[in-house]
Amino acid sequence: MMSQSSSSDANSISRRWGPLCNCGRATSVTKAWTNENPGRRFFRCGVHGFINWADEEKPFGWQKVSLLEARDEIRQLKESLKAMKEQMVGLPVSASNDHLKKHEEEKKKLEEEKKKFEAENKKLEEENKKFEAEKKKLEEEKKKHDEEKKKLENEVICANEREKMLRQLIVLSWGCFIVVIAMCLGMGKK
Ligand SMILES: [Zn+2]
Repeated sequence: MMSQSSSSDANSISRRWGPLCNCGRATSVTKAWTNENPGRRFFRCGVHGFINWADEEKPFGWQKVSLLEARDEIRQLKESLKAMKEQMVGLPVSASNDHLKKHEEEKKKLEEEKKKFEAENKKLEEENKKFEAEKKKLEEEKKKHDEEKKKLENEVICANEREKMLRQLIVLSWGCFIVVIAMCLGMGKK
């Protein structure tokens, strides 16, 4: 309790009793961490910086050395922590961005190939349709041709039958003629 109240008292006293800067602004107490004055408190103006030392005695001896060592150790730790944070935050984000870009490029390529493939497929389908239409035409022509062939065959058959009939007629008429002549000759002899 005693130490707490005394330290807070010291802070408030230093604030209250701190000198004003030449510009008229109030000063605040800050610790210096230079090689000459590690941990030594001074009054500081927000605009003009150092005004005066708050701790009258300069740091010296083993305390000064250990303060400097602690200061350097803290600085190194802060730097390594900063580097670690940058590695943690920076690298994965950029890596994932690169990955995303590659992924999007591959996606675009695939879509372009898909479009090409679909265009070729359409062409093939159109050619197939044309081919089928030509096939139908050819089949129709073949049917017509077959029908005409059948007609011709029928006509040939009819013509043959007519010829047979004609021959039979001719044969019959010749027969009749010969019979008539024979009868006439027979009549003449009698
Ligand atoms: Zn000032």
